[in-house]
Amino acid sequence: MNPSSSRSLCESIRARYLAAREQIEIAAQRAGRSAASVRLVVVTKTHPVETVRAAVEAGIRDLGENYAEEAVQKIQALSSEVEDLRWHMIGHVQSRKAGLVAAHFNWMHSLDSLKLALRLERFAQEAGRVLPVLLECNVGGEASKFGYPAATPADLNALCREVEQIALLPHLQVRGLMTMPPLYDDPERTRPFFVRLREVRDFLAARFPSLAWNELSMGTSADFVAAVEEGATMVRIGTAILGPRPPKD
Ligand SMILES: *Cc1c(COP(=O)(O)O)cnc(C)c1O
Repeated sequence: MNPSSSRSLCESIRARYLAAREQIEIAAQRAGRSAASVRLVVVTKTHPVETVRAAVEAGIRDLGENYAEEAVQKIQALSSEVEDLRWHMIGHVQSRKAGLVAAHFNWMHSLDSLKLALRLERFAQEAGRVLPVLLECNVGGEASKFGYPAATPADLNALCREVEQIALLPHLQVRGLMTMPPLYDDPERTRPFFVRLREVRDFLAARFPSLAWNELSMGTSADFVAAVEEGATMVRIGTAILGPRPPKD
């Protein structure tokens, strides 16, 4: 990329980033919350490293990725240039990719099985790290593919049994919940899923008071305002800041 086109990319990303922050601020105010309690994770999946670099130059520090191998290439390319980046794994992780996540990411949003937790624990221990994790919950019924089912009381009982096991793993630190509701054009249709995630969080916080449950990762480009109004502490925004995504190869 030539210098002038990379500068204009950086400037347009910065403008859209600031606009999103402003919307977060207004939504937080409306909900009687501080905007400082909402972290904006910019989702860079499938974007080339040049785009991620432009985002970093625009001042963005929290980056979300879905595919472990693709992400590790970007992490390695950029870690020598900027020290204080925080990488968030937000996509479904197969157990055999757990080592990449435990070694390279700062946050794991999409923990969805005990099997994966045990693998992450092993690799986090080997890497001498403690990995903050969020449990991905499927509060949208059948429409979403991943996450712990969390719609019925029976679902919550099963989830509690998993949490009991995960809580025992010293190199994973439970910090809250994440959800990816079904996609609708109208953000008001996803709001009930955000409310539900908060309720599931309140339930788990009462059942497991020794764990930290403060983080709620919810809301994307389409619905982050509603998510912030309902208590999101992390929103995951891609297209609204970076524009359309290149197709995954
Ligand atoms: C891609 C993705 C996002 C970002 O979606 P946009 O619509 O581009 O904002 C957020 N969360 C998850 C889990 C994703 O996979």
